[in-house]
Amino acid sequence: MLNKMSVGDLDVRDKRVLVRVDFNVPIQDGQVADDTRLQAALPTLEDLLERGATLILCSHLGRPKGSPDPAYSLKPVAERLGKLMGRAVTFAEDCVGPVAEAAVGDLAPGGVLLLENTRFHAGEKANDPEFAAQLAEHADLFVNDAFGSAHRAHASTVGVAHYLPAAAGLLMRSEIDHLGKALHEPKHPYIAILGGAKISDKIGVVRSFLDRADKLLIGGAMANTFLVAQGYDVAESLVEQEAVEDAEEILSGAGQKIMLPTDAVVADEFSEKAEHKVADVEDIPSGWRIMDIGPDTVDEYRGALEGARMVVWNGPMGVFEMAPFASGTNEIAEAVASVEGVTIVGGGDSAAAVHSAGLSDRMTHVSTGGGAALTFLEGNPLPAIEALDDR
Ligand code: AMP
Repeated sequence: MLNKMSVGDLDVRDKRVLVRVDFNVPIQDGQVADDTRLQAALPTLEDLLERGATLILCSHLGRPKGSPDPAYSLKPVAERLGKLMGRAVTFAEDCVGPVAEAAVGDLAPGGVLLLENTRFHAGEKANDPEFAAQLAEHADLFVNDAFGSAHRAHASTVGVAHYLPAAAGLLMRSEIDHLGKALHEPKHPYIAILGGAKISDKIGVVRSFLDRADKLLIGGAMANTFLVAQGYDVAESLVEQEAVEDAEEILSGAGQKIMLPTDAVVADEFSEKAEHKVADVEDIPSGWRIMDIGPDTVDEYRGALEGARMVVWNGPMGVFEMAPFASGTNEIAEAVASVEGVTIVGGGDSAAAVHSAGLSDRMTHVSTGGGAALTFLEGNPLPAIEALDDR
């Protein structure tokens, strides 16, 4: 499908391989709070080690301001990764310069070294060629397994690929293959489900799904903007006023393809402790706000999913972080899991909801990328994938 080099195409024996991983994990009290992303990287790392490589790993974590910030150190990640791999993972307190070079020099053949957060240098986000060259100097080969960062043209995702033979890791490969199928080999009935807060981020995705899917089910705050475009009064609900015109235009061209909520769980304030009830969308009480899709909507969406042969879902149906407003998202997760066709969950919050509901194993693919998955599904090239060598 995508004619890019994969890790399996590389002869890695006795080679130092710089692996861009996605270790952007939550840290709480100096500990890794969720190691899903570390686990996801293991197949590529183990494969490289089994074939005789020496590994130098790099990643970003959080949003430091282009300089060192202990709150965003990858040090706790090195410890946890060592435990998961059952071997020593050494840590370098910088990703380039003398400290990193010394750590690379000390690395025994077959060893694993994790470099400090690439975003401790402004050159990372700026995709500075000098900084990328310094990263590249550590190794003979480059493997990118950080799908979640593939939509960003940074030094460690794109820049280094210009200096070293560059291939996709196994996780990257699996994302490209699964999401590529949703993009290039649609199976019908094809149902897309979109939620979340910001419609402005997703206008391109909505348009792209209108071309390829048979139905588009909309939930989350995004639905509010569409409801306003249809002339409903959604009271205090979160609406993106500047996107209403786009929503109108999309609806006018969509025929019967777009389904919107007919009822909602509404609350008298934006809080877990708010008073809440179910209301029809034409009867949102003044002073209240939509927090989740309602039970009738869940039934209608479940009905639309029946018999689907391909489903792609991105974005929660409501404010799922608050228990009283999580049922729309959870019920849709369950409904998607019950579909016998291909089911793809596009990263971010919807992936988190699927994991916490214990439904991941019942989906065909749960993407590790939020923005990257959306960009891919929109049909736009991801710079980090483009930067890999052609086969
Ligand atoms: P996004 O980053 O655009 O995918 O949006 C995800 C966020 O949308 C989550 O944090 C949800 O809490 C939020 N969200 C979903 N539905 C609503 C709603 N009806 N009102 C306000 N926020 C919402």
